[in-house]
Amino acid sequence: MSITSNIANIRKQIPQQIKLVCVSKFHPDDAIVEAYNAGERVFGESKVQEMTGKYERLPKDIEWHFIGHLQSNKVKYIVPYVSLIHGVDSEKLLVEIDKQAHKAGRIVNCLLQVHIATEETKFGFDETELLDFCQNNRIKNYPNVQICGLMGMATFCSDKNIIESEFKQLKNIFEKLKSVYFVQNQSFDQLSMGMSDDFSIAIECGSTMVRIGSSIFGSRIYN
Ligand SMILES: *Cc1c(COP(=O)(O)O)cnc(C)c1O
Repeated sequence: MSITSNIANIRKQIPQQIKLVCVSKFHPDDAIVEAYNAGERVFGESKVQEMTGKYERLPKDIEWHFIGHLQSNKVKYIVPYVSLIHGVDSEKLLVEIDKQAHKAGRIVNCLLQVHIATEETKFGFDETELLDFCQNNRIKNYPNVQICGLMGMATFCSDKNIIESEFKQLKNIFEKLKSVYFVQNQSFDQLSMGMSDDFSIAIECGSTMVRIGSSIFGSRIYN
């Protein structure tokens, strides 16, 4: 199957109002060009150096989304051009994004990552931390950051019930924050959840943005 036909197949399964992030990490430039020629403009990467190289070489109307675990010392490399940072998982990281965004003279769009999976290896705020952060209105300490919503990953497993309950939990947190703390903030409207194996469940549970890699580009080769 070609990338072009994979995209057509995925697009058929995603309602039009849902954003598709084509996760191109570990895939070469020409794979992205093929997806670009098929009409895709939003690409997700998880390594700073890899994303920055691709940004420099590829068409400038691509929206680059950073979806990986971001280290504070690397924030400065992506802030000048990144469209959305999905995985903001600590306040320490927000401090650095705000600082670099100020330097670059731009407002950087971010999603707060919520830890919903059972695996300890996954990152993110837990619900209590998130509520504490919002209740005390600490968001106002970061004027160069726009919080556009939440992101989460379900447990890596084949049990549909577990995945569904985790996505529902995330959707509930999202709705709670939206109706209590972000009422005045129209930009808080994105819920990034769903990958190749679970995007249909995520959409049923209220996802607004799916991040799909291997179903589009094939399996990744990690060196
Ligand atoms: C790699 C990755 C994806 C894409 O995963 P696939 O299973 O290949 O679709 C989505 N989200 C995050 C955060 C990732 O790291």
